[in-house]
Amino acid sequence: MAQEIRNQFVAKEAKRLKEEQVQVQEELRHLRELMQAEVDVEPDEGDAEIFEREKNAALISVLDRRLSDIEAAMRAIDKGKYGICTRCGKPIEVERLEIKPDASMCVSCQGEMERLARRNRPASRPIEW
Ligand SMILES: [Zn+2]
Repeated sequence: MAQEIRNQFVAKEAKRLKEEQVQVQEELRHLRELMQAEVDVEPDEGDAEIFEREKNAALISVLDRRLSDIEAAMRAIDKGKYGICTRCGKPIEVERLEIKPDASMCVSCQGEMERLARRNRPASRPIEW
């Protein structure tokens, strides 16, 4: 039964990712067109034009990263590795994936890593003898 719920979730997620991929690709295509368009910069509008282009460039890099996350998740689904904890190899709780679809670790490993990160922080500084 748990497996059934998981399979349904993964199928739903695969569909959602596919839709999001199409949307992001479309948005990127549109933004890149805007960036390539010749602009006749009117002296009065120059600043606004530059601001607009910088905003678009920032958006392109965000969307690019989003697209590679989406594609990585899609590859993981194809390989049957989606929703598997990268630390302990156990399935990540479906409840957790629903909240955070790109989670790469299960709740207990995530908690463990956070504890370790906190504990290691002072020790990561060079020790002076
Ligand atoms: Zn784990």
